[in-house]
Amino acid sequence: MFKKILSAVLVCILSALCFSACTPMQTENTSSADKGRFSVVCTIFAEYDWVREILGSHLKEASVTYLLSDGSDLHHYQPSAPDLDKISECDIFIYVGGESDEWVQPALDTIKNPSMQTVNLMEILGENAIELPQPKIRLSKLDKDGDGVIDENEYVEPDPIYDEHVWLSLRNAQTFCSAITDVICNVDSQNEQDYRSNLDSYNSQLAALDKKFRIMFSEAKKHALIFGDRFPFRYFTYDYELDWYSAVDTCKKDFQTTETQIKALAKQVAYFHSNTIFTIEGTDPSVAQAIIDLTEKKNQKIAVLDSGQFVTEKQIKKGKTYLSSMLENYDILEEALN
Ligand SMILES: [Zn+2]
Repeated sequence: MFKKILSAVLVCILSALCFSACTPMQTENTSSADKGRFSVVCTIFAEYDWVREILGSHLKEASVTYLLSDGSDLHHYQPSAPDLDKISECDIFIYVGGESDEWVQPALDTIKNPSMQTVNLMEILGENAIELPQPKIRLSKLDKDGDGVIDENEYVEPDPIYDEHVWLSLRNAQTFCSAITDVICNVDSQNEQDYRSNLDSYNSQLAALDKKFRIMFSEAKKHALIFGDRFPFRYFTYDYELDWYSAVDTCKKDFQTTETQIKALAKQVAYFHSNTIFTIEGTDPSVAQAIIDLTEKKNQKIAVLDSGQFVTEKQIKKGKTYLSSMLENYDILEEALN
């Protein structure tokens, strides 16, 4: 009997803990006059922060949800039943639209709000999305003739996959904020002037930081970034024409690195006289350290660049914003490249 009671208590405690840890972050809708004006659901932190900036003083009149506020990895996120309810009933749903968002279309197929507006960042980027490198697929004669004989010389191109870390470009961010503002104005035209004015002010800040990066990189002594980690900064490095070398081409979480790759990266460190090996937030620095251990000087630093992929509610409450995170990256990069 005692065991039964104990397990029941434990289940209750665990459920309560899970509920508090797994509930997405949501801004308060505090104005009774405007209560229920509209709701926005965002998948990633950057989208959530951009919406806050565009709404400005009207933020308290809307309800804005950030789905991954427990720091979940967007590459492995699957919505819970309450998340799906939120999406189904919201007025505006903002998502990245890349390969990690395969769950989105089935979710949208069941929406309860027929007038919901969606913002798909990858779709907005269109042909400016950057294709990821993929090995060609060897075509066997089995595929063609059914005899199972491999023809070593025939390959097929795989379907293209595009890099989904689109928010890491300050230039893309301006395009996305403009598109998000258009949709917010459609839903709440009453405050259109304020939203457009907030957008102008915010896009000016994004453009100013983009310029600051451009000047810093053009004057920097070094122009190559060595990552002992997965690599989500393809759009960022593309904007500033930076060379980059990483332990893995993509942003897969459980990547494998061979000794040959680590040796090759150590040679790049020596070639570019790099004093810093980069990792991204929340990952194990062991690959970066292995690279350093193979260099002659072994005195390089490991620095963490923030890719904004695992931002938690706690960090937001402490004041983290998209711009503050990019500014921190600026300081780290400025030190590393000079
Ligand atoms: Zn990623």
